[in-house]
Amino acid sequence: MQISGGSLKSLIFACKSDIMIATATIETLKSAVRNIPDFPVKGIQFKDITTAIKRPELLHLIVDEIAGYYQKKGVTKVVAIESRGFITGGALAYKLDAGLIPVRKPGKLPAETYSKTYDLEYGQDALEIHRDALQPDDIVLLHDDLLATGGTALAAVELIKLFDVRQIYFSFIIELDFLKGRQKLSPPFDVRSIIHF
Ligand code: AMP
Repeated sequence: MQISGGSLKSLIFACKSDIMIATATIETLKSAVRNIPDFPVKGIQFKDITTAIKRPELLHLIVDEIAGYYQKKGVTKVVAIESRGFITGGALAYKLDAGLIPVRKPGKLPAETYSKTYDLEYGQDALEIHRDALQPDDIVLLHDDLLATGGTALAAVELIKLFDVRQIYFSFIIELDFLKGRQKLSPPFDVRSIIHF
């Protein structure tokens, strides 16, 4: 059975998601995410989305629900964070009729970049964006697979702010509530995650 946004509207909606999805559907998606203890380092419970997105109905659900929420927001660019953000970010940009902008790890983008270092739940890293990626009239949807401490998303938003864009929205598939990453991003940003652990 394909689970689509349209077929869910008459069902009971969940309050544990920021996007209006039936509780049973959220639980299906949640249980399809594989937990890998102590990866990539001891103490981290790694949330592996590959076991969810390999199921076509769940990949549809993720993309359709996020795109459905942002459909009327006038998004002109989806900024996707390397690397798992690229997977659903491309599909989201296509559905929203927006352009796709990659934010990448250092040394990967070929033209001139802006760069920002940040702290991870495990370690430190940096992100880069092409200097000609965005324009002031853009409305941006920043997308990644998971919000943990918020360091990655904050670094990405600081890169996006360099372009003085009109609006920035955030979407994640998963949010680790106990790490309180959302507090780094809001207010004033609109932050949406489909499932919460
Ligand atoms: P953070 O900067 O702490 O919000 O970390 C978010 C980024 O790191 C995202 O790009 C995630 O893909 C990755 N990440 C951090 N923690 C986890 C985790 N527990 N499971 C899977 N990915 C994670």
